[in-house]
Amino acid sequence: MGKKNTSRSVGKQFRGLLGAHFSIAKGLHNAVLEAKLFGCNVLQMFTKNPNSWKEPTILPDQVDRFKRTKAQTGIREIASHTSYLINLAAVEKKKRAKSCQALKRELFRSSILGISYVVLHPGFHMGKGEREGIHRIATSINEVLYETAGATPRLLLETTAGQGSVLGNTFDQLASIMEQIENRDRVGICLDSCHIFAAGYDIRTPICYHQTIDDFDAVIGLRHLLLIHLNDSNKDLGSRVDRHEHIGRGFIGLKSFECFMKDPRLSHIPKIIETPKERNRKNWDSINLQQLRSLLKGLG
Ligand SMILES: [Zn+2]
Repeated sequence: MGKKNTSRSVGKQFRGLLGAHFSIAKGLHNAVLEAKLFGCNVLQMFTKNPNSWKEPTILPDQVDRFKRTKAQTGIREIASHTSYLINLAAVEKKKRAKSCQALKRELFRSSILGISYVVLHPGFHMGKGEREGIHRIATSINEVLYETAGATPRLLLETTAGQGSVLGNTFDQLASIMEQIENRDRVGICLDSCHIFAAGYDIRTPICYHQTIDDFDAVIGLRHLLLIHLNDSNKDLGSRVDRHEHIGRGFIGLKSFECFMKDPRLSHIPKIIETPKERNRKNWDSINLQQLRSLLKGLG
């Protein structure tokens, strides 16, 4: 799939692809500018309001400005996160059609903007059970990919915490979805540290971390892992509750993030924080990014 060599050093001594989720409230291009301001070389953003079905019209001017800003800032990769309303496993036909439509629009919009990855929560089975839910998700994805043949972004299924009837909280489920996707070159996985921990995968110690990553490799295959969300967890192991916490200040702890940052198998994969923003008037993005960068110190 033509991944670029990422061994070139970026920024001060930092090597690797690190960023955060930034807001588009002041314009699409502003998310890119903000990422640069925080010393990031990758970022994640929404391309629309994630809590609404409304589809925005993006004007050619906005596309130009966005692409120009990306080129000027030297930002390497951008991921977009899909609307929270999308459920590709929806039982109701109308809701599933609406979800597929929203995903198609997201893929096209991201494609026009030159965005590399579109992150998706796989879906909720709504009481119909795992097997049926997985089948419905894969069928929906196949349909969406067929109808967006020219779109360039990779669609990434995100690991989930396992709340309610959500699917994607085990590596087996994600592997099952992947197996049923016809065009696997257009999809991949986004691993969220907070979500897998809440789902029951222990990553707190180097031994547990390596077991979990080995497990991912055995079940899904690390070659399919294209994006990582680094978030600490406000809830304990196996809680199935998705609450992000500042890096090193939650139940996961700093040691785990050191493992993620130093793991040579993951060094080429963009890593994005989605930790809480302003709290007590502190600039938490800056603190969390600095914390992660500092974990690499002493590495060759
Ligand atoms: Zn995430």
